Amino acid sequence: MNTYLIIFAIFLMVVLIALIGFLCFIALRFSGQNSSKTNKSEDSDDTLEEVQIKKSPFCTDHEDTFAAGTCSIDMHSYCELCITKVDDMKFARKNIDEYLNYNWVELTMFKHIKTQYDFNNRIFKVKSKLWNELKTPLIIRGHFKINVEDDSIEAFTTLMCREDDKKLMQKELSFIKL
Ligand SMILES: [Zn+2]
Repeated sequence: MNTYLIIFAIFLMVVLIALIGFLCFIALRFSGQNSSKTNKSEDSDDTLEEVQIKKSPFCTDHEDTFAAGTCSIDMHSYCELCITKVDDMKFARKNIDEYLNYNWVELTMFKHIKTQYDFNNRIFKVKSKLWNELKTPLIIRGHFKINVEDDSIEAFTTLMCREDDKKLMQKELSFIKL
């Protein structure tokens, strides 16, 4: 009788363990699906400003060091050791040759309107795509100008590329008149 009881108890335990395992599997699967869904919607709703806010406060190459700025070439955060300033723009030291070794030209300059999320986002996406896929840099440079007529300060954005990439940029940025 005792043997039967023990066998029955073991059988119950096995069933229980299998059930817990199955529940864990279901829970993990669902939470995985949810998080991938959230990531997707975040990606598609990114704006230039949001992308900047989401940037890591730590250096890309030194995870325990606070970032001192964003590289104009790859848009990642870097610490004081990794970043340098040339022509009033910040570059990661590892990307500086991309700037110094080429002849850069101004593609266009336009008044920056913060609320034009779609437009700003589109430019940023072209920049990320060109750098990630082709290692072709596009510099989005923000600056201010004083309007002498009414003394107001206006924000402008300048797009810059390497001289040899001008044709490619005109194609990729065809939504802007260049
Ligand atoms: Zn660093």
